[in-house]
Amino acid sequence: MIFRQLFDEATWTYTYLIADPKTKDAVLIDPVNTQIDVYLQLLDKEELVLKYSLETHVHADHITAGGLLRQKTGAQTAVSGLCGAETADIQINDGDIFEFGESEELKVIATPGHTPGSISFIWRDRLFSGDALFIGGCGRTDFQGGNAGDLYDAITQRLFTLPDDTLVYPGHDYQGRWVSNIMQERTNNPRLAGKSRNEFIEIMENLNLPNPKLIDEAVPANRYCGLDEDECQDAIVRRELSMPKRNLGTAQDKVAAAKQHITEVNVETAKQLIAEGNIKVVDVREGNEYETGHLDNAILLPRGVLEFKISGVEQLTDKSKAVLLYCRTGGRSALAAQAMQDLGYNNVLSMAGGFEAWSKAN
Ligand code: FE
Repeated sequence: MIFRQLFDEATWTYTYLIADPKTKDAVLIDPVNTQIDVYLQLLDKEELVLKYSLETHVHADHITAGGLLRQKTGAQTAVSGLCGAETADIQINDGDIFEFGESEELKVIATPGHTPGSISFIWRDRLFSGDALFIGGCGRTDFQGGNAGDLYDAITQRLFTLPDDTLVYPGHDYQGRWVSNIMQERTNNPRLAGKSRNEFIEIMENLNLPNPKLIDEAVPANRYCGLDEDECQDAIVRRELSMPKRNLGTAQDKVAAAKQHITEVNVETAKQLIAEGNIKVVDVREGNEYETGHLDNAILLPRGVLEFKISGVEQLTDKSKAVLLYCRTGGRSALAAQAMQDLGYNNVLSMAGGFEAWSKAN
């Protein structure tokens, strides 16, 4: 088998390439957009065909190469279904298995805490722990919906129960270390070894780390596999024309599922509600879409950063107030409405048909 641990110096990110030299199937975990040429050269040199570009989570510190790899190689992009990256080809669930090569399996373990959608992958005796477990540390839990208690549970119950000699390959290391193993981390990791859940939470609450430089750019971009939304949609349409669909949850499935749990209103009703006043209007498209035209007084809160930024939006502090969400065609706003309901907002409406329907009606 071919196994490479690649390093992006600018963001201290590890990317992993696993490939079967016989069948030429290859898989990348957490590729970084600025390293795309390195990946393409590697694939080319070994005559590999990239099957999957996988993410351990929606990163805040770098932009994924997933979308570019999909465009250039036809690989499928995959990210946890809990990450809000609806344009990824595959929405990953706990326990999913990615098969590649002659008989290789990459198994998914949900390891939430750094973000709600963080996952780890197991391949043979190797764990790719993303930003859940680091060598002598762990991912931070103070933004992007992070939760220290969840991270403690995931690491102690799901990762530390793996065989002692399982190799641990993290998503980052800031001190030049490359690999560890489960026993080493269980017995020596200063944040976790011998620490109770409460002690761990206290440590995590007092890290006082600055926000990553790229967070405002990286989180929304990564929700579209590292591309802008239109590029991403184009890539998906082109792929769907040429490739059979995999039977895992797609973006459309996610939207359809969300629509079962939220309330949609048509443009007519939306207009009435706005005229009556007492409803906040939120545009969940990206800033560049908002700039080309939007509803009067609409608050811009892109779907990609909604969970991250909503607590800072003063007009939305009262969770019982009515809120009307819209996007371009009604898909993202349905997902955003569900996300807001999950955050405790109990009077959220999504405008069916979105800004396109609104513009047509006016
Ligand atoms: Fe991260």
